[in-house]
Amino acid sequence: MTSILWLCRDFRFDDNAALTAAVRDGPVLPVFVMDAATRAQGAASRWRLGRALECFDAAWQVRTGENITVLEGEAADLLPGLAARIGASAIHQNDWPTTATKAAQDALRRALGPGPVRLHLHEGHLLIHPARVKTGAGGSFRVYTPFARAVRVAGPDRPLPPPAIISALPAIGARRAGELTFAPDMYRGAAVLAKQALPAGEAAAFARLADFIAHVPDYPAHRDRPDIDATSGMSEHLALGEISPRRIWAMASLRAGIDPALASGVEKFLSEILWREFAWHLLLAFPQMAETPWRADWARFPWLGANPAALAWSRAETGIALVDAGLREMRVTGRMHNRVRMVVASWLTKHLLTDWRIGLAHFEDSLTDWDPAANAMNWQWVAGCGPDASPFFRIFNPEKQAASFDPKSLYRDHWLTGEGAKAWRETVPASWNPPEHRALPDSAALLDQGRKRALSALEAFNRNSQ
Ligand code: FAD
Repeated sequence: MTSILWLCRDFRFDDNAALTAAVRDGPVLPVFVMDAATRAQGAASRWRLGRALECFDAAWQVRTGENITVLEGEAADLLPGLAARIGASAIHQNDWPTTATKAAQDALRRALGPGPVRLHLHEGHLLIHPARVKTGAGGSFRVYTPFARAVRVAGPDRPLPPPAIISALPAIGARRAGELTFAPDMYRGAAVLAKQALPAGEAAAFARLADFIAHVPDYPAHRDRPDIDATSGMSEHLALGEISPRRIWAMASLRAGIDPALASGVEKFLSEILWREFAWHLLLAFPQMAETPWRADWARFPWLGANPAALAWSRAETGIALVDAGLREMRVTGRMHNRVRMVVASWLTKHLLTDWRIGLAHFEDSLTDWDPAANAMNWQWVAGCGPDASPFFRIFNPEKQAASFDPKSLYRDHWLTGEGAKAWRETVPASWNPPEHRALPDSAALLDQGRKRALSALEAFNRNSQ
């Protein structure tokens, strides 16, 4: 039985349930469809998707001697005809459970109608199916700690091995993965990100994970330090499905079981992997979380919309060293350290009182590890309107954060005056005319005034809510 493997964000051989099922049935044709929803994705994550696709195509070539098929248009318009042409009776896909993917799947099902070709969805994006993690009352968790406990008790699903033998069909059409244009409209140019990109693809993900686990004893102490490369770097690979969370869990747990010196580092690392899991379970239970405040009453909070200070924030011109350093890092590399993401997001939503969705959209366009669930959950967490969120009155002081987590100013200096600053300046359009960083007059005053303004807005909001 011939099948189509409809690629989405699952660019791997290992623990790939859709690939395993397709290969078990017979010859397989992997197909990537560049559709309107993919084109509408944020620029940096779309560019990174292009790299993932190229890496997977190269790996598929090595494994099978064939290329993958790339098409442009909508799956519902293209795949039924393609299935008929190659005599496929099944289309397999690993579910990437977003609203856009669901819409594409539904449209395809309608186009296939009652005919012989069926769409089969498979799991693999998460550690565990949400149906297996329920509260005592049968609902979904809204608080991280009991959620994490429940996942550990239920035990994540076991990863599948990569298929031993693959019978691949030759690619249809002359177009190759590298010819799809992923980034022509990227605001700072794909060439900028390419210079500082980390290795992409499944092999790179496994190599990086193995290297990280060897150094994992340092992770608990150094994971909050943007001046030290102490975190796993798994987020990009997870966002593109170049490695599965189940494999990460299994590999890290196995190593910790063999070497007790790794155990506490692995424990902390897996608790972060569980934050990603929590974000997805939340998004599946409350899809509106991507756009609206999770706490409904926060729809009335008097956030400012687009405003000059928020524009300056997006251009890394706040005059607050750690905030600007992080935003420059993201512009140049597509990455930003987690601690700095929190500080940057807090500055926008608290000191500048700006709607978290403005930051959400900027991150969506700028991050190579963009993940709709993690991005929404974290922005809402920082803004104070999410489930299990940091209370609004907890306002990060970026100077204190910098002193604690970048004590020698290595990170800030790199991005404000060093090599990073040089790379950043090359990306800045002449029309921006950025002011000299450390000389912004009102930033010091805003540290205190912004905090006071945020607290009085909260007070008024709470008063009006009673
Ligand atoms: P590590 O410290 O090595 O963590 C291991 C893995 O755990 C990560 O790869 C990630 O999958 C998961 N993880 C860690 N922290 C979090 C967290 N707070 N929330 C959810 N998962 C987590 N992460 C994304 O992958 N995509 C996003 O779009 C994204 N947007 C964010 C927006 C804001 C405002 C904030 C504060 C955080 C955001 N994060 C996002 C979470 C976090 O910053 C990144 O996952 C992390 O920096 C990735 O680096 P790492 O893989 O080296 O992390």
